[in-house]
Amino acid sequence: MGGYGSGRTGYKQKAEDCRSLDVNRMHREGCLNPGWRGSWVWSVSGEEVGRIDCAAQTGKLVLNYHVRQYGEEWERIEQSVGLTHVDCHFGNSRPYFRCPGVVNGQHCGRRVGKLFAGGRYFLCRHCYDVGYSSQSVERYDRMLRRANNLRMALGGEPGTANWIAPKPKGMWQRTYQRKRFEIEWCESQADNLFISRFDDLLSMHERAAFLRMGKI
Ligand SMILES: [Zn+2]
Repeated sequence: MGGYGSGRTGYKQKAEDCRSLDVNRMHREGCLNPGWRGSWVWSVSGEEVGRIDCAAQTGKLVLNYHVRQYGEEWERIEQSVGLTHVDCHFGNSRPYFRCPGVVNGQHCGRRVGKLFAGGRYFLCRHCYDVGYSSQSVERYDRMLRRANNLRMALGGEPGTANWIAPKPKGMWQRTYQRKRFEIEWCESQADNLFISRFDDLLSMHERAAFLRMGKI
């Protein structure tokens, strides 16, 4: 039995960097039929890069694999993933995985088409946050940079912890108001991007505290 080493310590991963299981593909290839056993293999340019053993049972798929976190020993994992079917048109039904992830003590249970091996387990993209693209990171940085430049142009210090500088002498009140508004807008955009990234990991209280709302 093969395995894969995650080797990555960052919390942020892109979907294409991860091994994933596609419920429709597995369904098409008969791997979800109760009683089916076999290996699911990932390859790049015809070369095998990872493999797990699967056994389909009624209502679930049992995965068996070895995984190695960065700098650690290989570890054997057995993971059971629930399967569910949802009726669609013309009497057909399509299968879904039930994400087995547990975040903040809460079972995820989302009905998903794909599971990703971003760490030790196969979980949905919400649990691993793999759908969070570098584009959003760039946008987050850009928003804060723009706000900081405006803050400094007004003679203030960068960073949301600082007050925005008072109106410089000779600047129109209206111009000053517009710049203040722009700073606040950029910073709230960055807040929202940050929040959407950790949405699944933050409690209501933490989210409210971060957004500096008065009450939950
Ligand atoms: Zn999940």
